[in-house]
Amino acid sequence: MIGPHPQVKNFLFANGFSGHGLQQAPAVGKALAELIVHGGYRTVDCSAFGYSRVAEGRAFRELNVI
Ligand SMILES: Cc1cc2nc3c(=O)[nH]c(=O)nc-3n(C[C@H](O)[C@H](O)[C@H](O)COP(=O)(O)OP(=O)(O)OC[C@H]3O[C@@H](n4cnc5c(N)ncnc54)[C@H](O)[C@@H]3O)c2cc1C
Repeated sequence: MIGPHPQVKNFLFANGFSGHGLQQAPAVGKALAELIVHGGYRTVDCSAFGYSRVAEGRAFRELNVI
């Protein structure tokens, strides 16, 4: 779960990494920094991991499980 909560202002998700969190942390940190500074993702598009996708029940199939 990555990105803003749709109803709670200034609440940003960066969680749910399971066993890959240390590997993903640099990219997630960069993406959230871009979101905070620029108001949107620039180099790492994390929109697929947003809260709204889960709330709407849209599945995201993982194709690159290590
Ligand atoms: C045994 C093990 C091996 C792993 N090996 C790897 C690996 O080789 N490679 C890899 O990429 N990932 C690995 N991971 C996964 C990685 O460690 C996690 O995905 C990552 O640490 C998650 O980071 P996080 O910041 O989301 O959460 P966390 O590191 O869990 O940090 C959450 C923090 O929030 C604090 N907290 C909780 N509740 C509250 C509260 N109410 N108020 C204030 N603070 C609170 C906690 O104390 C904690 O400091 C491993 C995990 C485990 C358990």
